[in-house]
Amino acid sequence: MKITGRKITLTGRVTPDEESIKTAATVDEKVKDRFERPLISFRISVTNRCNVNCFYCHHDGIVPRNYEMTAEEMERICRVAKSLGIEKIRLSGGEPLVRDDIVEIVRRIASVGFRDISITTNGVLLGRYAEKLFKAGLNRINISFDTLNPETYRFITRRDYMELARDGIKKAVKVGLNPVKVNMVVMKGINDHEIWDMFQFCRENGVILQLIELLKTENCEESESLKKYHYDVRKLEDELAELSTKVKKRRFMQDRKKYFIEGGEIEVVRPMDNTQFCKNCTRLRLTPDGKIKPCLLRNDNLVDIIEPMRRGYSDEELKKVFLKAVNNREPFYTDFDDAQGSE
Ligand code: SAM
Repeated sequence: MKITGRKITLTGRVTPDEESIKTAATVDEKVKDRFERPLISFRISVTNRCNVNCFYCHHDGIVPRNYEMTAEEMERICRVAKSLGIEKIRLSGGEPLVRDDIVEIVRRIASVGFRDISITTNGVLLGRYAEKLFKAGLNRINISFDTLNPETYRFITRRDYMELARDGIKKAVKVGLNPVKVNMVVMKGINDHEIWDMFQFCRENGVILQLIELLKTENCEESESLKKYHYDVRKLEDELAELSTKVKKRRFMQDRKKYFIEGGEIEVVRPMDNTQFCKNCTRLRLTPDGKIKPCLLRNDNLVDIIEPMRRGYSDEELKKVFLKAVNNREPFYTDFDDAQGSE
């Protein structure tokens, strides 16, 4: 990022955000894994289907299969998750908004009573759904939007939907979803020169910009060719720190940092080789075919919950299935000493 001629304020002070403090108050009572990481959020992939085709997509770490759970099944799994102390639900995919019953899914999950329900979407169908989702109980939303340039958008997504996605962002703000965040995967030579323009767009629209490091996983279609686009966001974080009036750490969100710059906000998500990211991970995932997934980057430790549920397991038995998945949790990137866990 090249930002010249701007006022630089150095504070050097990093404070935890309010969400971290609130969660810390209850964290002692939470179910924790062998590495003392509390269980706070649950990310449900509601489908593998998608209406765009991003060349870098890691598919939320899930091996695509044609299978989806019903809204009712997801509601029951969420009830069990809540009884174990899960506070936050995020719906993702594939593209969650391609499910015709997405409003029903949100309504059912909201009826369980979580502190926070959010969706990660490409925003293409938000014009149609934003208001209905808000009314159904959705609190906030992340919209993946990597570029303001139609050609670059076409190159990345292989579709021509940039304006629909951009209008979707505006609609999300208008209907009252809060916060609205733009997820921008930063890629060398593709959109790294657009960071500042994207920040202006976000600021003008009351949206938080979330910069995501490009991740190479075995699920990425063009795994090897992704290397050339990798952009080291660590350098960027140094620049952002210099420009910020305030920096906050989101402790229970993988220790991500939030930078406050000239009335706007930027967050940075840097999972690659980041031991802090793993150390502060408080998330379990659910695949569209009903398997609890302890880590974005692994597929060899999944625990099936849908099959036992269909065989008639009680809620107490399903809790045990959850606990088995919690027990399977271990940091992907570790400092050697932290990797031992506690018995
Ligand atoms: N379809 C939805 C969307 O576009 O937001 C949800 C699924 S998408 C897999 C979830 C998030 O993962 C998006 O913000 C996307 O940009 C991000 N993502 C996908 N592949 C990635 C990769 N290789 N590295 C970093 N982020 C990636």
